[in-house]
Amino acid sequence: MCGIVCYKGSLDAKNVIIEGLERLEYRGYDSAGVSLIDNGKMETIKRSGKLSNLKDTLKDYKINSNIGIGHIRWATHGAPTDINSHPHLSNDGNISIVHNGIIENFKELKDELIEEGYHFVSSTDTEVIAVLISKYYNGDLLEAVQKARKDLKGSYALGVLAQSEPDRLICLREESPLILGITDNGVILGSDIPSLLKYTNNVIYLENGDLVDCKNGYTIYDSNDNVVDREIKEIKWSLEDASKEGYDHFMIKEIFEQPKAISDCLRNKVIDKKIDLGDASFSKEEIEKINRIYIVACGTANYAGNIGKYCFEKFTQIPVTNEIASEFRYADPIIDENTLLILVSQSGETADTLAALREGKKHGATTVVVTNVVGSSIDREADKSIYCLAGPEIAVASTKAYTTQVMSLYILALDFAIKTNKISQEKLDDILNEIIKLPQKIQEILDNTDIIKKYAKEIKDYESVFYIGRGLDYYSVIEGALKLKEVSYIHAESFAAGELKHGTIALIEKDTPVIAVATQEKIIDKTISNVEEVISRGAKVFAICGKSCEKLEESSYIYYRLPDTIDSLYPILTVIPEQLLAYYTSLEKGLDVDKPRNLAKSVTVE
Ligand code: GLU
Repeated sequence: MCGIVCYKGSLDAKNVIIEGLERLEYRGYDSAGVSLIDNGKMETIKRSGKLSNLKDTLKDYKINSNIGIGHIRWATHGAPTDINSHPHLSNDGNISIVHNGIIENFKELKDELIEEGYHFVSSTDTEVIAVLISKYYNGDLLEAVQKARKDLKGSYALGVLAQSEPDRLICLREESPLILGITDNGVILGSDIPSLLKYTNNVIYLENGDLVDCKNGYTIYDSNDNVVDREIKEIKWSLEDASKEGYDHFMIKEIFEQPKAISDCLRNKVIDKKIDLGDASFSKEEIEKINRIYIVACGTANYAGNIGKYCFEKFTQIPVTNEIASEFRYADPIIDENTLLILVSQSGETADTLAALREGKKHGATTVVVTNVVGSSIDREADKSIYCLAGPEIAVASTKAYTTQVMSLYILALDFAIKTNKISQEKLDDILNEIIKLPQKIQEILDNTDIIKKYAKEIKDYESVFYIGRGLDYYSVIEGALKLKEVSYIHAESFAAGELKHGTIALIEKDTPVIAVATQEKIIDKTISNVEEVISRGAKVFAICGKSCEKLEESSYIYYRLPDTIDSLYPILTVIPEQLLAYYTSLEKGLDVDKPRNLAKSVTVE
């Protein structure tokens, strides 16, 4: 669930690993640890809490090591304590492992091992792996790991050391992500690109089931224990791309990167004012075959899916259901070979979304993923991939990934529409002309933050905030409310504005903060009436408006005017002040905005 970094080479392993783990910190974690082999002796040091706790403890150790494994944990089995932290050791202390993921059959394995005389000190699922490997260990770590993995069910990325083989590091992946970085002076394996970038741009995206034996150089084995060759890819992201570049936090950096992110996102989708999705393109025949679309995702990506649904239905008239991935996979959805499944996942590793993809494929659906991570699991398994190209998103709360997901879905819907003559070339040209102006319009919003900061100051002590809107504005406020919850811990609820009077309006009292989004021409008068309803009950309204709206300008506490665009594109603009409000409110409360409590960036468990 969280991250691992392992190293073997000529550098100081402790430094390489700690630096790598620091780059993974953005994922959210609860403890950290390392095993390092110095002169044939393995030292294992682990601490609950922040990585800095581990770093402080390490100062007391004099370790000179060129090989080691490191971990930051996001507990799934057992509380976040020192003992449950990784690495975990075998009973004889010879084997040490770090693990990301979940071992589904750990209970059975643990019972069996206890019966055979082994004992356990932690309550994790992970410890069984260390014990199991030692049970099979007969002087050859590779053989033991290959045997042990056959007993394991679940998802795991592993780093394994044996004190008795001090120059050997073994890593493998099954469902959980792991990348092999090749440097001039050794190998470094990490859960994602930023953890390796300081040392190398040359990486191998390990395939599911791959095991890397780092003894003399490295050898990769597939899940059938056959030696395989994997292509080395050059990463274009610089380390700078993955760090804060002068901003106080990743979240604000990423909010401000959205003009560029949208431009980059469009770069490989709209070429010479024409949509060209390259390998991800669908032919007219393929599109005409589709009679049902599911968009499937989790959290913010699911909310991007709401807007995707609107676009596909508006532009293509194909019925669309937007589904939560964790529900979809167990709901017996109606899928056949005429179904298109669109998966949306920033990381491309979201466990529920990956499972939904497999479910869809099993029933014959065509699958396309909208993801930010090239080479991720969902990317590799989907029939077609549309890349957001937002660049690395480090803050746990998604911002630029969301807007680029919306943009990607929008473009795909337009492509379907033009290919099947559901939209005229002229209309498409008009829309594309507006789309290419979006980066500039986002920038205008980013240059106008004072009033948002003022409102953030005022709402910071409230327990509840309400968000209202209609149509596409409703979809926008769902995401806006989630952002505020994630980073400010204020209870925020979003409502279709017309629904308020069916219950929730009872909660509105003097000074209750209400964020109202009103951009949709067709229904703006209705939204204005709903805003008036809450104002007359004392609400302090922050109105985010599209075209100029005198009525709201007069009656709202704060009136925030967005640049003009066409109605269907407003969601990409309305979310920007919502993101900023969440960010500044979190700052006002002095919270850890990039790593909100209880959350993880990449949710690779169910
Ligand atoms: N399931 C393991 C644990 O709870 C690993 C969690 C992780 O991936 O950080 O310790």
